[in-house]
Amino acid sequence: MSQHKLPLSMTMGRRKRSHWPWILGGIALVIAVLCVCVLSHREDDDMLTESDPIDLDALGMQEWSDLSELTRQYMDEDIPQDVPEPTLDNSNPFLIKGKITRNQTLFVALKNHGLDIGDIHQVITSMQNVVDFKRTKPGDRYEVHLDVDKRILKFIYEISAEDISIAERNGNEFIAHKVDVHKRTERRLVKGELTSSLYQAFIDLGESGELASHFMQLFKYDIDFGTNSQRGDTFSVLVDRVTLNGEFYRYGRVWAATYQSNALGKNLEAYYFESDEEYSGYYNAEGHGLKRNILKTPVVGCKVSSPYNPRRLHPIFKTIRPHRGIDWACNTGTPVYAFADGVVTFAGWKGGNGNLLVIEHAHGYTSLYAHLHAFGRGIKKGAKVRQGQIVAQVGNTGNSTGPHLHFGVKINGEYVDPAKINASFSLELTGSRLHAFNQSRDKVRVAMSGQPGVTEIVQDSDK
Ligand SMILES: [Zn+2]
Repeated sequence: MSQHKLPLSMTMGRRKRSHWPWILGGIALVIAVLCVCVLSHREDDDMLTESDPIDLDALGMQEWSDLSELTRQYMDEDIPQDVPEPTLDNSNPFLIKGKITRNQTLFVALKNHGLDIGDIHQVITSMQNVVDFKRTKPGDRYEVHLDVDKRILKFIYEISAEDISIAERNGNEFIAHKVDVHKRTERRLVKGELTSSLYQAFIDLGESGELASHFMQLFKYDIDFGTNSQRGDTFSVLVDRVTLNGEFYRYGRVWAATYQSNALGKNLEAYYFESDEEYSGYYNAEGHGLKRNILKTPVVGCKVSSPYNPRRLHPIFKTIRPHRGIDWACNTGTPVYAFADGVVTFAGWKGGNGNLLVIEHAHGYTSLYAHLHAFGRGIKKGAKVRQGQIVAQVGNTGNSTGPHLHFGVKINGEYVDPAKINASFSLELTGSRLHAFNQSRDKVRVAMSGQPGVTEIVQDSDK
């Protein structure tokens, strides 16, 4: 503003030679200086004033929270599984295959197929004792077998591969039962030696690439498997495997993993430690958490619309104002992920920031997310968040020219360029936690020292 006003008043001065332009120019200059002071003060003052409470219902939060809950459940899985889409083969007129969609009840789903309402009622009533309809969720699959009159003969409802129920017509009624799936979870010790790649070594042992990549994830900050793994390196994993009717179904938790690297000349170890939420996770033999890098970007599928720039011309105020963060242009509603584990210190309205979220992390880090549309469920001052958890939705609140996320990071109170951060965090166990960890580690070590194969039957539905 000051750069703009000054030349103007000077040209006016030359033309008229009166004192007025100088007075006007002076006033403009004073106003400009005041503006800059007030605005920059507002920027620095971001965190200091109390926030107005926001109305979650007005933001349509309720509906969205359910989705985030689902996503969180998915993210909490030890090993994310790729569930293949069912082939919706509707070429057979006597067979309907479908999936429950969001906000849809089984009744509505079946009604949408134009099935007999009486049949639907009977099927659902008959299933009441075998299916816990409170557990049903979007994505559950069903299959309806019909006769020539489009009456239901058989209905199959699948909550998961382990939980399938069938209702079959018997005269004028339906009889339901659960499919007897023999589920067995065994803890298995896998040991191998590298001949070519680590990935291949897992495959050669009859394990899947999924386990190999999970293994590599555990040690990715300690070793670069691409360049540092060598023929002759040895590894071991203690993992739960779930079988259904004798067939491999999925992996459960990886309890421990070791990698003896010849290139590094050391033995890497990872032990899963079950503790309170914040401390549950993988640790090395000394009880130091395996490193978890911060997220590079808090949003996915967005473009940088304005980088970190200490001397940016502000798009609204047309002044040079530092841009102490990165702007990511995204659609309203795009999920925002927590940059690292931490505690929410602010979640609410904050002037030009619109809806602002501030999370404090270990090692003096703070992350800020501005112009949000809404906050995730349970996101309020004091809430603990995990890295990668969905904490908010991108919006266009406050001083914002379009939907975007302003993402800022401070280290010990000083703004830094989020694009240049290359930090990692790790937790350290102490006191009673360390004591408990040592005991569980020693137990696992005994199991790991044995012969490869099944070390324990964790669960067997036949027993
Ligand atoms: Zn910004």
